Amino acid sequence: MTDDSKGSAPGAPGRSGFFAKVRRGLFMTHTEILEKLGTAVKKGLGFDESVLEALADALVGADVGSETAGALTEAVRERASGSERADLPALRTILLEEIEKLIASAPRPARRADASPYVTFLVGVNGSGKTTTTAKLAGREKAAGRSVLLAAADTFRAGAIEQLQTWADRLELPLIRHREGADPSAVLFDALTAAKARGTATLLVDTAGRLHTKKNLMEELAKMRRIAAREVPGAPHETLLVLDATTGVNGLVQARRFVEAAGATGVVLTKLDGSARGGIVLAIYRELKLPVLYVGVGEALDDLVPFDPSEYARALLGEEAAVAPA
Ligand code: GDP
Repeated sequence: MTDDSKGSAPGAPGRSGFFAKVRRGLFMTHTEILEKLGTAVKKGLGFDESVLEALADALVGADVGSETAGALTEAVRERASGSERADLPALRTILLEEIEKLIASAPRPARRADASPYVTFLVGVNGSGKTTTTAKLAGREKAAGRSVLLAAADTFRAGAIEQLQTWADRLELPLIRHREGADPSAVLFDALTAAKARGTATLLVDTAGRLHTKKNLMEELAKMRRIAAREVPGAPHETLLVLDATTGVNGLVQARRFVEAAGATGVVLTKLDGSARGGIVLAIYRELKLPVLYVGVGEALDDLVPFDPSEYARALLGEEAAVAPA
C-alpha cells in the first residue's frame, strides 16, 4: 500500500518515528560498518585495497549480500581512487550517495486516486508476516479515514483466517472469509463483489504462502490477478511482497519468484526489530528492483513504519555527529 498519509493519520509515525523505531535494528549494523572502515583507514597510510576490503567485509556482515557489497565497493573505488588519504567522512559521503542512487532506481509508486476499491494483494512465504501486515495496513487505512474491507484468502495456513478475524474484530472492520481449505479465488471474488457493492475505498487481500492442493501457488496467484483485473479495472493496484528480514539475503532467491510470477510491485520488510542486519534493504533494491515501502518493527498494530530511504541510508551509516574524524 502506498503511503500517502504520512504524518496525517492519527498515531502514524512520522520522520522521527522511522528513526526511533528502525535505529535499534540498524545500530549494530552501522557501528560495525563504520568501525571496520575507521580501523582500516587509521591503519593504512593511504586509500588502498585494505580499506576497500574492510568496506566489502563490513557490508557483507550487515547482510547487504556479496554482489551488492561488491558493486558498492567498486563504486567507492572508482570515485575515491586517486585520493592520497583515505578520509572516513569523505568515504562515508560517497557511500551514502551510492546507496541513495541505488534506492532511487526503484522509486515509490503513487497511489491511484481514482481507483475504487483500491485493491492490494499481500504475497510471500508462510510465516513472513502477511496476515499481521494486512492488519497493520488496515489500521493505517482506517486511521487515514478510508473505508476498508479485508479478504482472508490464505485458506491454507491453519489459523490464518481466525487470526485475521481477530484483527478485524479489534479494528472493527469487515472481513470476507470462507472455511479453511476453500478456494482462495472464490474468497477474492466475493470480496471484490462486496467491496464494489459497498463502495469500499480499500480492499486488502491476505494470500496464501502455500496451497492445499498440488496446484502451483504462482498459478493460483496469477489466476487471482486475472479475476481482480476482470472485476475492477487496474486491479490489483499493488502487490506487496512481504519479506522476513531475519531470513537474510538467501531468502531473496525465493522472493524473486513472487516478483516474476505474482507481479509484486513493492516490498514490506518485516521483523527488522529482531535483526541487526538492515543491509538487506540494499540487496532487495539491487536484486529484486523493487521499492521497500514499509518496515515491520514488532507485532503490534502500530509497528509498521513507512520506509524513508534517505533516513534509512543515514541510519545505516550513522548520523553525521556519530562519525569520528579519521
Ligand atoms: P504469515 O504466515 O505470512 O501470515 O505470517 P504472520 O502474519 O502469521 O506472522 C508470523 C509471525 O511473525 C507472527 O508471530 C507475527 O506476530 C510475527 N511478526 C509479523 N511481523 C512482525 C514484525 O515486524 N516484527 C516481529 N517481531 N514479529 C512480526
